[in-house]
Amino acid sequence: MTSITNHMPTAELQALDAAHHMHPFTTNDELSAKGARIITRAKGVYLTDSEGNEILDGMAGLWCVNIGYGRPEMAEVASRQMMELPFYNTFFMTSHVPAIALASELAKLAPEGLNHVFFAGSGSEANDTNLRMVRTYWAEKGQPQRSHVISRKNAYHGSSMGSGSLGGMTYMHEQGGLPIPGIHHINQPDWWAEGGDMTPEDFGLARAQELEAKILELGADNVAAFIAEPVQGAGGVIVAPDTYWPEIQRIVDKYGILLIADEVICGFGRTGNWFGSTTVGIRPHIMTIAKGLSSGYQPIGGSIVCDEVAEVINACEFNHGYTYSGHPVAAAVALENLRILQEENVLDHVRNVSGPALRAGLEKLADHPLVGGVNIKGLMASLPLTPHKATRAKFAGQTGTAGFMCRERCFANNLVMRHVGDRMIISPPLVITPEEIDVFMSRAKTALDETYAALKDGDLL
Ligand code: PMP
Repeated sequence: MTSITNHMPTAELQALDAAHHMHPFTTNDELSAKGARIITRAKGVYLTDSEGNEILDGMAGLWCVNIGYGRPEMAEVASRQMMELPFYNTFFMTSHVPAIALASELAKLAPEGLNHVFFAGSGSEANDTNLRMVRTYWAEKGQPQRSHVISRKNAYHGSSMGSGSLGGMTYMHEQGGLPIPGIHHINQPDWWAEGGDMTPEDFGLARAQELEAKILELGADNVAAFIAEPVQGAGGVIVAPDTYWPEIQRIVDKYGILLIADEVICGFGRTGNWFGSTTVGIRPHIMTIAKGLSSGYQPIGGSIVCDEVAEVINACEFNHGYTYSGHPVAAAVALENLRILQEENVLDHVRNVSGPALRAGLEKLADHPLVGGVNIKGLMASLPLTPHKATRAKFAGQTGTAGFMCRERCFANNLVMRHVGDRMIISPPLVITPEEIDVFMSRAKTALDETYAALKDGDLL
């Protein structure tokens, strides 16, 4: 076997990457022409690339490395578990300690009444589980016509056929025959981009009431569930106005519809509570989890299910599952991650230290002529870029041009800040310190200045 290591020259690694590796959500030909940045190691909030640059990871990988990189305890637990029981399934009347322990711990951490866990390997798989579970729930209760699921435009729930259909990204629906039948999308509560002259409060209420209108259009007896992220992540860190969630809760209660909270990003401390549902004050029947569950150290996801739904599903054979449902190594690593989050009081750190420091730093950055404002909950935030703050105007050219330029300038300045359209996205490891947040702000300021200059040069302002 050829030996490909961190010690090879960057260009050789890039050439092999271009020749053999197909990247997700990427125009691979463009990437090949430019060469991927090769990340070789990471510690705390810093990544190191093959050229020796130290990059501050303002995205915690993909919103997942909540405890930061390089925790030896996680590796030790994985190694121990691999020696003891590297794999066994949970299909055939068998179970194992890591799955039992993790499910029990999640039942303790989850809001009251959510006591049952169905494991998956990822957030996408877990949302596929949810789709089949809510339809099965209603079918078992003698209401098979209750199969329609309502979601939101610009939501992200995963990339598989089911979860990609639940998501509301039109550019995803354009490829591969999505959405599958029975999934409907209402508008998102994005006041900044879509609120026009309305107050955030009126807009939040109006967007929530679209759920009621959609339920009535489909027929209340035909709707199985509504799914939403407490704070939309990949859509652009969209924090709904305060009026939105109470109205959503009123509507799902009124029509007896199941509420699925997709906590893949919001879960495990990102918004300052264990779950975003607590932060926004909703009572879901099912919560989707992944990412921060293991801080990304192992691939694992799942659905935390309420007693009422579990009672019905547990009484039938639910013909669904994944080889890696409850994978022992992933489960043991996730459990260690939960131990670290609890014993090191990481949620308190988000509420009292890193969250307020990030907010203060971003509010200062919002003085920059390109930044239109700050959306933030806990340690997830976005900065919408605009040519004109007062009117929240969009840029004249192609949407996303300014955002992409800014992301590239961030990367060149050793900072990972992602862009969604013309919004800059921030979601660092939860353990980030105020000093590291200062480094973040100084690099972000340089990148914004350079973007501003480049936009002016290109006549885009
Ligand atoms: N739901 C949400 C809210 C997500 O952000 C993501 C991933 N970004 C997913 C589901 C899908 O998770 P995965 O990529 O692990 O399949």
